[in-house]
Amino acid sequence: MTESTVTSAPSTAAPNHGLDNWRELAISQQPSWQDAAVHRSSLQELSTLPPLVFAGEVDVLRERLASAAQGKAFLLQGGDCAETFDGATADKISARVKTILQMAVVLTYGASLPVIKMGRMAGQFAKPRSSNDETREGVTLPAYRGDMVNGYEFTPESRGHDASRMVWAYHTSASTLNLIRAFTQGGFADLRLVHHWNKGFTANPAHSRYESLAREIDRAVRFMEACGADFDALTRVEFFASHEALLLEYERALTRTDSRTGLPYDTSAHFLWIGERTRDIDGAHIDFLSRVRNPIGVKLGPGTSPDDALALIDKLDPNREPGRLTFITRMGAKNIREKLPNLVSRVTDSGAQVLWVTDPMHGNTVTSPNGYKTRNFDDVMDEVRGFFEVHNELGTFPGGLHVEMTGDDVAECLGGADPIDQEAFLDRYESVCDPRLNHMQSLEMAFLVAGALSR
Ligand code: PEP
Ligand code: MN
Repeated sequence: MTESTVTSAPSTAAPNHGLDNWRELAISQQPSWQDAAVHRSSLQELSTLPPLVFAGEVDVLRERLASAAQGKAFLLQGGDCAETFDGATADKISARVKTILQMAVVLTYGASLPVIKMGRMAGQFAKPRSSNDETREGVTLPAYRGDMVNGYEFTPESRGHDASRMVWAYHTSASTLNLIRAFTQGGFADLRLVHHWNKGFTANPAHSRYESLAREIDRAVRFMEACGADFDALTRVEFFASHEALLLEYERALTRTDSRTGLPYDTSAHFLWIGERTRDIDGAHIDFLSRVRNPIGVKLGPGTSPDDALALIDKLDPNREPGRLTFITRMGAKNIREKLPNLVSRVTDSGAQVLWVTDPMHGNTVTSPNGYKTRNFDDVMDEVRGFFEVHNELGTFPGGLHVEMTGDDVAECLGGADPIDQEAFLDRYESVCDPRLNHMQSLEMAFLVAGALSR
């Protein structure tokens, strides 16, 4: 991560910058904490803990996203649907960071543009759910809402909403971020090393069709080496953290006043997004995030009208500041070519310069015949292609990719060149929420997107 600035002590003063207005507004998807005293003390503790990210880093990210909004960089955002406390191990974190770095090298080559690397990591612990309950074999319990709220284990104790989990989420985010910072600053991100890992991918016969692109990248790396490129400088990369800002109490407790500017920053992550289920224009989530300086994303599903998008811009980006607002479309492969053009045209006509990113996962979720929540690799890729087609047709910039992925060899999404079938789910389905691309599927997507970008 980049140079940081000092952020002042937590502001516990009376409401400032309207940071508490959301408390008066309609709010959905919040927990019902079981113990009021634990709730109070947890929030008190969070409000005194140090910030997880620094305002200066957040400003750097806003500049990077502004250049992506202008067509001069590409965003790669990836990670678990729901991180878990148990999953915050060195092996899993390093595998995920490694996979994102590997994807980024391929995309950088394909796009001939800088790739902004961002994890759905170090804070992605709260989930919106379509139902409040879950029933298994006649027993009904509260639905799992992410490790920040309750446990995945299907028992009444585990499924109760425990506010002390917010503090646990903070500490797990801190240790995850610490390791990410070490990896991305300490030599692990060396371009030559990352490229070497990618050679392992194309050595698999199932991926032979990507060999020519890998060879081109190899030549480019050797060319840089021959020219005397400063590879030491290339051992460090910027890596940003993001999550869905769902639990507003947690986000509010980590929002601090930047001593340089006097403005509020949500220091729980560099980038926060608002989900499809909580983007009500008059609701609490939009109000709260409109008041912090972080770059903000909003997920847009197939039901989004151009007027909805314009209203979101007015609220979240009234000054039309490039880098401030990212629209993450998740239309579904079947809808994207029909729904996206009008949305993009109307936003472009309004003069706003938002960053358009595709989330090809959430509009393509299906249930496998043997009962698992899954996605077909081909549908995911079809949505990505549709996204590029629409933007190419309109002359706008397809600025990024938002994916649920892991660095591990799981079996959760169907297909890919080294195909996963539903039988593999029985042994290797690990996600506690939505299905993720595994390591190989993630790299394959990067090669396919790089091919599309370089055309
Ligand atoms: C998610 O990103 O995991 C998610 C719930 O997405 P959406 O808000 O797009 O449904
Ligand atoms: Mn998800």
